[in-house]
Amino acid sequence: FTSDASHELRTPVSVILAQCELSLEEPRSSEEYEDALRTIQRQGRKMSKLVNHMLDFTRLEMRADSYMRQKLDLTELVRSVCFDMALIQEKEIVLNYEVQEQVEFVGNYQLLSRMLTNLISNAYRYGKEQGHIFVSLKHLEQEIELSVADDGIGIATEEQEKIFRRFYQADNSRSVAGTGLGLSMVYEIVQFHDGTISVESELQNGSTFIVTFKNIN
Ligand code: ADP
Repeated sequence: FTSDASHELRTPVSVILAQCELSLEEPRSSEEYEDALRTIQRQGRKMSKLVNHMLDFTRLEMRADSYMRQKLDLTELVRSVCFDMALIQEKEIVLNYEVQEQVEFVGNYQLLSRMLTNLISNAYRYGKEQGHIFVSLKHLEQEIELSVADDGIGIATEEQEKIFRRFYQADNSRSVAGTGLGLSMVYEIVQFHDGTISVESELQNGSTFIVTFKNIN
């Protein structure tokens, strides 16, 4: 992880140093200083996002016991995250959800909210203009199933198993600003709750992420 992380941080650090050196070489106009500062700010923000994600990760890996598990109402959690995220309306995408009543589970509220938020954020990020997102929560016989489906750009079959790896970004994400850590965080959170996650997807035809947890009843 450390070697991946330092690799990811190397680019923004190099850009920041190069900008500073260039600006300090000789006197510059105020426009040039402003341009340089904007580049430094952009790279600094990128580093800050990366560092925050890395710290979240490390906490989950090294100090998993600091996340308390308690009996919670998954129905309420999913409804509340979906309600908030439906307000995003990015690219005129519409988010709908169908949530079964009284689905209870023992877990960590903050982590489970994060997991769902990350999946829905991706559905927006890799969604098409005027697309749709559909979130569903239901009890199956032995399991609880939570799924997030989109009709976005999809993921090539050969990349589907790799997207849960840290820093991995599929070909489809070239034009999109991400860190490649969202889904690996989702994966860790699912593991933390002894669940499973899978993806069904086809290029150009959207993706469905399915999380299952053992039923506590
Ligand atoms: P990123 O910050 O790049 O979004 P993630 O770890 O969240 O990183 O996702 C890893 C990669 O998986 C993304 O770069 C993208 O290529 C692909 N991906 C994730 N979710 C979706 C989705 N809903 N539709 C299409 N591709 C997706």
